[in-house]
Amino acid sequence: MGQYKSYFKCISEQCNETFSLTDIVYRCPRCNNLLEVKHDINALKKTTADEWMHIFDDRYMRTRYPYGSGVWGKKEWVYPNISDENIVSIYEGGTNLFWAERFGDAIGLEDLWIKQCGNSHTGSFKDLGMTVLVSAVKQMISNGANIHAVICASTGDTSASVASYCAAAGISAVVLLPKNKVSTPQLIQPLANGAITLALDTDFDGCMGIISELSLNKNFYLANSVNPLRIEGQKTVSIETVQQDDWVVPDWIIVPSGNLGNVTAIGLGFKMMKMLGLIKSLPRIIAAQSANANPLYKSFRNQYKTFQPVEAQSTAATAIQIGNPVSYNRAFPILREFNGIVEQATEDELSHAAALADKHGMFCCPQTGVALACMIKLVNEDVISPKDKVIVLSTASGLKFPEFKVNYHEGQLNDVNPRLMQKPIELPGKIDNVLSAINKLL
Ligand SMILES: *Cc1c(COP(=O)(O)O)cnc(C)c1O
Ligand SMILES: [Zn+2]
Repeated sequence: MGQYKSYFKCISEQCNETFSLTDIVYRCPRCNNLLEVKHDINALKKTTADEWMHIFDDRYMRTRYPYGSGVWGKKEWVYPNISDENIVSIYEGGTNLFWAERFGDAIGLEDLWIKQCGNSHTGSFKDLGMTVLVSAVKQMISNGANIHAVICASTGDTSASVASYCAAAGISAVVLLPKNKVSTPQLIQPLANGAITLALDTDFDGCMGIISELSLNKNFYLANSVNPLRIEGQKTVSIETVQQDDWVVPDWIIVPSGNLGNVTAIGLGFKMMKMLGLIKSLPRIIAAQSANANPLYKSFRNQYKTFQPVEAQSTAATAIQIGNPVSYNRAFPILREFNGIVEQATEDELSHAAALADKHGMFCCPQTGVALACMIKLVNEDVISPKDKVIVLSTASGLKFPEFKVNYHEGQLNDVNPRLMQKPIELPGKIDNVLSAINKLL
């Protein structure tokens, strides 16, 4: 595997700064722009598209460590030069992609598929990137770097993933959360995994400001998605999704978007498959935002001519309650290249879409609710056609958001008319009462 090189490069085309993947660097020191991971495409091209597809299929969900992982099965495309013994994997990826037949029927789509990225170790897609980042830290430490802890600011899912992978690796973790703005499972996950868990009296953007200052100290390694190592892991979701459909490219791929790392990653995964000949076309990407935290939507409506951070307002989709997305400069060129669309959903729209999907067998997190609501709007506007193949990336498990579910069904969500709410029926423990209740309702 020594023949493949990968390295950090500044995303500015005028700037040629490069760094090793084991350097502790998150932005270009010369122009302060974001960094990206570059791969040696010419070396990778020496293996044909057919051969890559075979290699990936052979490894997929098998036990040979670490190649059965959905991420490390694509190691040569992700981080070829890391040594296998430093890889920290909990067999992330390999999540199910299913045909949502009845739900699709209900909203006017024949070929709707849901990729359940939340059926993962810590319950969100963040695990895909975190395995790469924490493995890189382990590699750095074994190279002699003096890293005391991995640190992050989080809306709840990044911190859960950092805490878990660091605990598995035996590396300390420090997580900063906005107090009272994450769900109960999201708060208890890092505590259970033994991370130093700080609940700050500010919002996510406030936590991020503090983390940026902390990350000037090279004894702390920054795990937020400004760090392109995460994006490398997350891009495997595109490859895995296409692989699961026998290498067919969908017409649309929809993803709830906050900090814009994931939408970038999805684009990069498709671009790499196209460069290496595994696919011939690209899907259109839809970035879905909460109307209460919609800076990308506003910029899109203005053809990306300007970008204005917003102050994120309260939304049930807390994982994307972000007003100043760090990866904006990576994401908007991707959206342009993929003929992308940005749509937004109100609290009522996202809650109703999630509840409607639940009525067809899902258990949707509020972020996935945003994606579904945006999709429904675009179907109703005839932007998405009834026969199009549509893939929704469900980014987290609904089980991580019990307050959202309970509050919906108790009619307690702000600005939401809970048209599909349901309450438990309390009865005496007697067969007659049970039978008459069933007969009344069936
Ligand atoms: C992190 C997260 C997102 C947003 O991803 P970005 O890369 O920040 O745009 C969406 N949904 C869930 C559940 C998340 O945890
Ligand atoms: Zn630069």
